[in-house]
Formats: sequence, structure tokens, C-alpha cells
Amino acid sequence: MLELPETCVIADQISKTLVGKTIKSAVANTSPHSFAWYTGDPAEYNARLVGKKITGSAAYGGRPEMHAGDMVISFLDGIRFRYLEVGEKRPDKHQLLLEFDDDTAIMCTIQMYGGLLAFVDGTVDDFYYNAAKEKPPPYTDAFDRVYFDDLRKSVKQTLSVKAFLATEQRIPGFGNGVLHDTLWNARINPRRKLDSLSDNDMEALFDSIKSTLTEMRDGGGRDTERDLFGKPGGYQTILSSKRLAYPCCNCGGGLKREAYLGGNIYFCPTCQKWEK
Ligand SMILES: [Zn+2]
Repeated sequence: MLELPETCVIADQISKTLVGKTIKSAVANTSPHSFAWYTGDPAEYNARLVGKKITGSAAYGGRPEMHAGDMVISFLDGIRFRYLEVGEKRPDKHQLLLEFDDDTAIMCTIQMYGGLLAFVDGTVDDFYYNAAKEKPPPYTDAFDRVYFDDLRKSVKQTLSVKAFLATEQRIPGFGNGVLHDTLWNARINPRRKLDSLSDNDMEALFDSIKSTLTEMRDGGGRDTERDLFGKPGGYQTILSSKRLAYPCCNCGGGLKREAYLGGNIYFCPTCQKWEK
């Protein structure tokens, strides 16, 4: 799933690779997918997008977007991209294929679920999109310690750290993927309640949110995700399904994966202690 670091990486790649190209054709929903979301009828995408020039991109939470004339093409959740060169064979199965005037193309497929929205700029008013556009991302100076402490004070202190950080769009684009390394770096177990965190824990957590997300973005995204060119990111995850078989790189002990709050959590039971 796309989260904050990958969204920034992809938006940057769109801006370097696609800006200036004009959409020659748009084909949506060629391979119908039960959990693919479009704006209105995907059969209308070509009429809506043809002739539009890519002018820019933006990263909002977990949603990279492309600006094409007066239209916005917004990508969310489980989108996998592939940039196709001139003459490169176009695969048969995809959920969106945009052909450009220089004979390159971008293809999108959907993993478990995802959205490929195409709407006139300024016409969408939904909770997730607005939250992602309005709240300061942890990469900015506006996301400072005061902001983070206020965010903590705005919720019940019996919430777990995972629920606080990765639900309700409190930090848009911060999901169950980036959570694990962020908490491991801060040595905090995802099940711990907010009221159990000391000042030092809060400081470590705040610092880790900033530094871990920056490391992930600057590394080209996590190695469990793909970029605009279909390549895995260069940031090597510390805790993920890929790393579960390896020992903890701090203490050398075994790592754990458990189901918790609608998804798996990964942690080191020695470095990230939790008492019921
Ligand atoms: Zn450990």
C-alpha cells in the first residue's frame, strides 16, 4: 500500500518523467477488478483525459496525484505503476493505461484494492482527501513537537500507540507499513497505551517519526513497495514480512508478527517491551 514515503517518491518521479507530456489516450478498467475505484464511469476516462497536458504532481498523505490540464488523476492505496518506454509491449491486463504523445505510457494495476480517480480539480470533497491536503505531513516544520503533543492530547489516553498513529487519518499517509520501523527505532511496542509513555518515550517517538520517514523517502521508498518504474524502493525495512526470518538488528533476538487492530504488527519482544 502506498504510504507517505512512497507517495513523495512517486510524485517526484511523475514530475521528473511525465510533466510536459500530453495524454494521447486513456484506457480504464480493461481488466475489471472488484476492488478498483474510479470517478464515475471508467468508460468515460478517455473523453475526460485525452489531449490534457501533464503539468505537475503532488503528494497528499498516501495519495500521489498527477495534474493534467484542469483534471487531477489521484492514485490511492494498492496501486502498482509501470512506466513503459517507446516501443515497449503494453501488457494486456491493467486497470489504467495512459498513452502519451511521445509514445511512452504509464500503466497502473491494482493489488488488493485501490483507486484511480480522475476528476476536475477542486470538485472533490471527501474526508480522506481533505485531511490529506490540510494536515501538515511529518516532513514539514509545521509538524513540530507542539503539534504532535496536541495531537496526542486530542485522543483518549487509553488508545494504543498503533491506534493513535495509524488510524483515523490523524497523520495522513502514516499507515500500518511505516509504523513498524518507526516504533522499532523508538523502542516502543505498538500495543502500548499512550498513558504508559514517558516524556522520553514521546521524544523518541517524535524524533523517530521524523527521521524514519525521511530515511524511507530519501531511500526511494520501502523495499516492500514499488516506484513509478515498478522497481522496489531502496530503503531496507527493519520490520516487515521480508525481514521476519532474520534476527533483530539491535539485540539479535527473534522478531514477531501478530494480528492486531486490523492488520499485522511486527516487533522485537526484547527491544520493544510490552506489559499487559
Ligand atoms: Zn531486538
